[in-house]
Amino acid sequence: MPLLEQIIQLEKEALERIGNSDSLDSLNAIQVEYLGRKGKVTAVLKQLKDVPPEKRQQIGAAANKLRVKLENLLKEKQAVFAPSGIKTIFDPTLPGTAPRVGAPHIINQVMGEICQIFYGMGFEIAHGPHVETDYFNFEALNFPPDHPARDMQDTFFVEGGRLLRTHTTPVQSRILAERKPPIKIITPGLCFRYETITTRSHVAFYQVDGFMVDEGVTMADLKGALVAFCREYFGKGLKYKFRPSYFPFTEPSAELDISCFLCDGRGCQLCKYSGWLEILGCGMIDPNVLEHAGIDSEKYTGYAFGMGVERPAMLKHKITDIRMFFNNDVRFLRQFL
Ligand SMILES: [Zn+2]
Repeated sequence: MPLLEQIIQLEKEALERIGNSDSLDSLNAIQVEYLGRKGKVTAVLKQLKDVPPEKRQQIGAAANKLRVKLENLLKEKQAVFAPSGIKTIFDPTLPGTAPRVGAPHIINQVMGEICQIFYGMGFEIAHGPHVETDYFNFEALNFPPDHPARDMQDTFFVEGGRLLRTHTTPVQSRILAERKPPIKIITPGLCFRYETITTRSHVAFYQVDGFMVDEGVTMADLKGALVAFCREYFGKGLKYKFRPSYFPFTEPSAELDISCFLCDGRGCQLCKYSGWLEILGCGMIDPNVLEHAGIDSEKYTGYAFGMGVERPAMLKHKITDIRMFFNNDVRFLRQFL
């Protein structure tokens, strides 16, 4: 067969074999067979010396072109096979790797769920500054000057006599001072207290406070709103009880306990074998607080409540260490996507 036809034949044959090849070993074998010292293309090149000079250039160029083409093609295909023979070639039929998508932090999720329930009951959502004045944080809320919460032990004071709010209730003070009843608002946000950091307490924590002021608001309205919230958030079948308590800005004051949703009130580790879980503090707004804000306490009454956000989140998701919320360990956070 004339050399030029041999070259065309070799090209056809080699391209087909490279195309069908599915491992590094077979590609290496093809390389030796065609381009090796005793390879088929090498053999053609060796025969060039016997070709008449007038045809040598044309055949030589064709043989060299084939050699370069096969070298490049083999190199390209060898590169897609790992040295171990594992295929790394892009395979569009394989399922893809889904990109990690961000999501709101678990605390924001819980705060959102709480706000959504109260929003559905007609509460507005309001926010206030983290750095507060003593007036809005304590004085307007009827904290006596000797109240332990005003002590340096419990509050972070900042320059200029201001402080980091110890609860979100000062937003209530601000709104009462600015607006006239009827008012029905919840105030979610970050609060700060000078506490020892343990599994159950932190220097920063979230709270949702709420209050309603209007003519003829009674304890029955308070109980109705809070029980409706608890049934929506924790489950319909739970039992509840209001225990008398004390807060400077409410009179009378109470704490709301719900039957443990894990053991259904029989007693377990979550409820410390009491069958009950403390959920929030509440009460009727002290007339002094209304008067401080220039609201006629003879005409208007109101209720207020406040709950931590971490606690319901810990109860609902069985989280045992409050510090997990602040560590930003994505392995923890990813559980709540
Ligand atoms: Zn229990």
